[in-house]
Amino acid sequence: MSNPAPAARIASASSLFHPTEEHALLDETLRAFVEREVEPQAAEHDRSEAFNHILFRKLGDLGFLGVTIPERFGGAGLDAVAAVQLMEVLSTSDPGFGLAVLAHSILFAQNLAVNGNDEQRGRILPKASSGEWIGGMCMTEPEVGTDVIAMRTTAVREGEHYRLNGTKTFITNGGIDAETLGDVFIVYAATGERSISSFLVEKGMPGFCLGQKWTDKLGMRASFTAELVFEDVQVPVANRLGKEGEGTIHMMRNLEIERLTLAAQALGIAERCLRVMVEYASERKSFGVPIREHGQIQRHIAECFAEYRAARTYVYDTARRLSLTETGQRLDADGTKLFASQAAKRAADAAMQVLGGNGYMGEYVVQRLWRDAKLLEIGGGTLEAHHKNITKDLSRDASLLGGG
Ligand SMILES: Cc1cc2nc3c(=O)[nH]c(=O)nc-3n(C[C@H](O)[C@H](O)[C@H](O)COP(=O)(O)OP(=O)(O)OC[C@H]3O[C@@H](n4cnc5c(N)ncnc54)[C@H](O)[C@@H]3O)c2cc1C
Repeated sequence: MSNPAPAARIASASSLFHPTEEHALLDETLRAFVEREVEPQAAEHDRSEAFNHILFRKLGDLGFLGVTIPERFGGAGLDAVAAVQLMEVLSTSDPGFGLAVLAHSILFAQNLAVNGNDEQRGRILPKASSGEWIGGMCMTEPEVGTDVIAMRTTAVREGEHYRLNGTKTFITNGGIDAETLGDVFIVYAATGERSISSFLVEKGMPGFCLGQKWTDKLGMRASFTAELVFEDVQVPVANRLGKEGEGTIHMMRNLEIERLTLAAQALGIAERCLRVMVEYASERKSFGVPIREHGQIQRHIAECFAEYRAARTYVYDTARRLSLTETGQRLDADGTKLFASQAAKRAADAAMQVLGGNGYMGEYVVQRLWRDAKLLEIGGGTLEAHHKNITKDLSRDASLLGGG
């Protein structure tokens, strides 16, 4: 058999990224939406640190807010590849807005879809899929982040209610703006020694309120981050997800798709940075030639390109294999985020270097992407947490090294 022509080879390679026609169509639709609706507002919402609620509702109208939610609950019923596509394409333009979408559709809606019961799903997921309600997930506390199992928020059972007390912090979508609490949250709380459970806590429950609003973040400024306070909040037993003590497994399962979709955000950032630096290097001249003629500029572009391609292949290969309902897929979820987040940060840094002084200015997108990229090394698990998890998993079972 003769070797395929280069174009055919490229087309067949792209099937990893668009395994079905539906995925190819999704990519086209998302890119058109981002160009038309997301890009024109991105810089302004970064500067004003405002979450774009109107744009969020538009995504809901198109079915993107419930990308992985079963159709019977108002979602699109798609897979992990589609979730990765959504986060990747949004992040070529506005990673901050993308983070708000991720917290809502993956940390909240996908979490509820897998770990809730039919009454909870039927009551809440249609409103989450349309964007009528904005959701988030509360794990981190002022004194407990990586060491999440040591959380201090408690839920004490009293008949048909739990009494919830504690504070959660850095919660994306905790507020819609400085005055308005988000609508509904999955909150993890200790229900005993070594027992964590998950609860649905809804706006309007007495004792549940917005605490500190985290303004002046380095990046991801188009997402709203807040502290949430729970003071003797009476949460009905019917709002508990699964059985008492199952919270840790819910959390671990959801962290897998969270990490993968955060890695997808990194892909979007790296792609945009590459586009910007390649274009700029052709237009900008120094010493009588386009700067792309200089070996050091070529090194920036080529190294970032190779890393981007490696990261994208790893993320999509993992997405293709990731089940949305199983657990035990942590190794590659952590691996993709570990690699892609650092690749994105390097790409943004290289792009800024290639653009020189212009790169440092707010007028050029790379400055914003450079700030946004850093979050991916911290949120949803720090680089050090990934180091720890990967080493632990490989030490327990070296055969995992062989991959799927
Ligand atoms: C913009 C933003 C949005 C966020 N959104 C949400 C959200 O929606 N919901 C939510 O629950 N949380 C959210 N977070 C919180 C985020 O997940 C945590 O910040 C993260 O898990 C790290 O926890 P920490 O900040 O408490 O750091 P810490 O856990 O205190 O870590 C501090 C440093 O110590 C290191 N460290 C800790 N333990 C170890 C160890 N065993 N070995 C080696 N090093 C270690 C860490 O890697 C880090 O470098 C958000 C954070 C940000 C910044």
